[in-house]
Amino acid sequence: MVLGSYAMQRGWSPSQLTDWFHRAFVDGYDWVMVPNVVGMSQHADGGEMATKPYTSGGAYLSKMTDHCGSCRFDPSVRVGEDACPFTAGYWWFLDRHRERLGRNHRMARAVSGLDRLSDLSDLVAQEEGRGNRAP
Ligand code: SF4
Repeated sequence: MVLGSYAMQRGWSPSQLTDWFHRAFVDGYDWVMVPNVVGMSQHADGGEMATKPYTSGGAYLSKMTDHCGSCRFDPSVRVGEDACPFTAGYWWFLDRHRERLGRNHRMARAVSGLDRLSDLSDLVAQEEGRGNRAP
């Protein structure tokens, strides 16, 4: 979920990501990777398997894991030196797909949250500047 979420937030190619999972994991069989990566993790099947993209900001990862305590980033920060890439990436992803996701009843509330972010333009510039978005 974490690797897929990061890739989707940054617009990486679902087919290239699937290929990477195939090669990087010993259990990377077609019947596992295609539905799990293309469908579930990248939402690249047009929503056939999942009714919403499976991604989150750092707050959820902080709640579900014990990794954030020792991380140099802060899951509650979205802009600046301490900005968590997952928190910022989550909002960046929503902003890039605002129109489409706004029509999804399971995502509409999250998308409307974009309007409350006074630092959205700074966040977008920051994430574009990270330089790890697929062309
Ligand atoms: S604060 Fe660090 S460990 Fe926690 S979600 Fe962000 S990048 Fe991951």
